[in-house]
Amino acid sequence: MNVMEEITKWGHEKVLFVNNEEAGLKAIIAVHNTNLGPAIGGCRLWPYASEEEALFDVLRLSRGMSHKNAAAGLNFGGGKAVIIADPSQKTEAMFEAFGEAVNALGGCYITAEDVNTCCDDALIIARKTNHICGLPHVSGDPSPYTAIGVFQGIKATAKVLNGTDSLEGLTIAVQGLGKVGYDLCRHLHKAGAKLIVANLEQEKLDMAVEEFGATVVSVDEILYQECDILAPCALGAIVNPTNIPKFNCRAIAGAANNLILDLESGEALKARGIYYAPDFIINGGGVINAAAEAAGDYNEEAVLEKVYNIYNTIEKILLESKETGEPEGVIATRFAEERIYGNK
Ligand code: NAD
Repeated sequence: MNVMEEITKWGHEKVLFVNNEEAGLKAIIAVHNTNLGPAIGGCRLWPYASEEEALFDVLRLSRGMSHKNAAAGLNFGGGKAVIIADPSQKTEAMFEAFGEAVNALGGCYITAEDVNTCCDDALIIARKTNHICGLPHVSGDPSPYTAIGVFQGIKATAKVLNGTDSLEGLTIAVQGLGKVGYDLCRHLHKAGAKLIVANLEQEKLDMAVEEFGATVVSVDEILYQECDILAPCALGAIVNPTNIPKFNCRAIAGAANNLILDLESGEALKARGIYYAPDFIINGGGVINAAAEAAGDYNEEAVLEKVYNIYNTIEKILLESKETGEPEGVIATRFAEERIYGNK
């Protein structure tokens, strides 16, 4: 692989490869763009099969963070870090060494938790750098804010579908009852929606039946349920050539990242007349919350105001897509890039 070519392709500013043998740390930190401010993005720990795979992931994810932060109206750029390891290999030394690497970047990258890294790990990283957000005693777990943003985005989607944002009596299928999905169900149930759910762990399913009167279906069936809105809150890339013909919903609006496999899938979904609330906009609530901490003036009221604004952004994008026929993902990317690069 030609590393410089890969880095140049999406316009990344800086990529740091970290190898600390003593601490058992192999990591890559990618700063995609800092036009709007320092790059924010979580640190993912994953047993990548190869360094190429890790580099590809960190470049893709950091660019995604530039789009997410810009579309949320934040004055932060996009970055991401990956630690190449199995979760069973986590050590304090590894996270301290990672903190030192973040610190060496001098504040152009601000880290946070992500897949396989948690509050405890963040506290260890914070021993070595102040360039970290999402700490338990400040902004804390981002998931409740992500769930509020997704709920707002679903209401805006309902408005474009039905002319009203009432969810009363609408059927919503939720894939994944994790930190975001379960909280989302609570908001949807309160708003009068009928819920169909699937999850890997039985306990959350039992709770959803008890608390929300949800109907449970298998993980193989959830994506194809007849419903008004499908809310994927588990896996990415579910909008793909296999699933597109089988969807039985009017819109897709959920928390999972990278829902659309590729540009062609976005076009095929549009051709089927199914609306799509762009993932990096609807799931921006968590980073809006963390960014307030990074800005040094955390205020929950101001955070919620920005999270509620996800409603307006989603409505605007869906209406533009309805009018022009252009896929929502393309419109959303343009909207974000206009903020990052100006109206070039
Ligand atoms: P989580 O790990 O807490 O929950 C994921 C849930 O999905 C688990 O309960 C699991 O059982 C379930 N699941 C996995 N595979 C499934 C399948 N095939 N069918 C049905 N259920 C399945 O994760 P989370 O924090 O709730 O995040 C959910 C999604 O939202 C992820 O894609 C994440 O990247 C994205 N996201 C999360 C946040 C956040 O603030 N937590 C922010 C932005 C985006």
